[in-house]
Amino acid sequence: MSGNSDKQSSFEQKLKTTDQLLQTILSEAPMIIFSADKNGVFSFSSGKVLERLGLLPGQVVGLKIRDVYKDFPDIIEQSDRALKGEEVRSVVMVEGVYFETLYRPIFDEKGEVESIVGIAFDVTDQKKAEKERDIFFDTTLSMICTANMQGYFTRLNAAWGKILGYTDEELLSHPFLYFVHPDDVDATLEEMKKLSQGLSTINFTNRYRCKDDSYKWINWISVPYENQIYATAQDVTENKENEIKQQELLKELERSNNDLEQFAYAASHDLQEPLRKIKNYSDLLSQKYFGQLDDDAQKYIEIITRASGRMQGLIDDLLTFSRISSRGKEIRAISVKAILNDVMDNLEYAIMKNKATVSLPDNFPIIQADKSQICQVLQNLISNSIKYKADADPVIKISITELENEWMFEIKDNGIGIDMDYAEKIFVVFQRLHSQFEYGGTGIGLALCKKIIERHNGKIWLKSEIGKGSSFFFTLPK
Ligand code: ADP
Repeated sequence: MSGNSDKQSSFEQKLKTTDQLLQTILSEAPMIIFSADKNGVFSFSSGKVLERLGLLPGQVVGLKIRDVYKDFPDIIEQSDRALKGEEVRSVVMVEGVYFETLYRPIFDEKGEVESIVGIAFDVTDQKKAEKERDIFFDTTLSMICTANMQGYFTRLNAAWGKILGYTDEELLSHPFLYFVHPDDVDATLEEMKKLSQGLSTINFTNRYRCKDDSYKWINWISVPYENQIYATAQDVTENKENEIKQQELLKELERSNNDLEQFAYAASHDLQEPLRKIKNYSDLLSQKYFGQLDDDAQKYIEIITRASGRMQGLIDDLLTFSRISSRGKEIRAISVKAILNDVMDNLEYAIMKNKATVSLPDNFPIIQADKSQICQVLQNLISNSIKYKADADPVIKISITELENEWMFEIKDNGIGIDMDYAEKIFVVFQRLHSQFEYGGTGIGLALCKKIIERHNGKIWLKSEIGKGSSFFFTLPK
């Protein structure tokens, strides 16, 4: 007997220990575990999460669900459904805490609900994160969406509707290629291929058809993740249209420049013939009637000869000017030394006659240039420095500085200087600051320099002060 009672007390002891263990697990579990009888009266409640409601384990036992949660019609409705035999899952907020709850009915042998058990998890952090994500999703001005690899949007934020004019249903019910401009479909498919290979696409631009049948340029940043595409998009229509307009303007400008060059060429070319006739006939007149004409007539003939000579100069310069782009030679590598040798040879007489000193640069880099055109630029600048000299003999210094992407040339003189108010004007064709009596010239030299330097993708400018001399600069890309 005593053996049996010993066994029993050890069995009871084990049961007690197991029960205590179970109680501890249930009361410490990060959830609420509860049960209720078929009348909806709590028969058990435990779990750490009860603390969030300010309840102790077992505190509600003996109370009806509909009394404890009388202010929560959702809980009453869900527990009633469970009491009628339905398994119910729901998310409800109680006292600022989101609970995801599972109600499960327990049936007796007759198949009638005998009781219900429930488990409720605190999902507040997850719900808050979802809420925050939704707020970001719907308040950003950018279009945000997710799409699947089959080519359908799966979720879109409100910006889509505002920008394209469709409802979410319209956008979700077609493959997104349906909205893409026919000319952009191939490029879009190419981007889709990259995404399906796990590559992100950054700054891809295509056109989307709006509800009103107009098109908008959309710029995309898309990232693939677990068979979904996550994308932000921006309406860049205004920028794109400006860009297109600018390109059109540029083309138009190039076209009108070409027209103008052709006109200048044709006009100057055609003017040569009648001019030659004027010159020849006035020469003939003064030779054939030499001594027979009075002084006035002789003077008039001289004026005609001088004016036609000057006009010949203008026409020659205009012809050179109009030929810069059309008759320019290839731009290729050439040493500055070779260029300066030619320039100094050509200017030898003018330098000597004007007692000018020209100092050459310390370095002679290899540059990318049309040799004869850059010769012409240096020749024009140096001969201007000689022509527009002050009282002192001309001293001209040429230097070359290496910059990051270009060579900068400087031609510095000690001449009469230029009022910087005219710094732009003197680069325009026929613009001169002096009369023909003071200094001869056609006013084309600097315009020619500008056109040549621009053909080489460089810039030309000057720094000067009246009475102190001038520095002309130009750059040539390396
Ligand atoms: P041109 O010498 O035939 O008049 P340019 O186009 O070469 O034509 O020069 C335009 C004007 O710029 C000149 O009339 C002159 O007034 C001014 N200029 C050019 N170079 C210099 C210089 N080195 N010093 C002073 N003035 C200059």
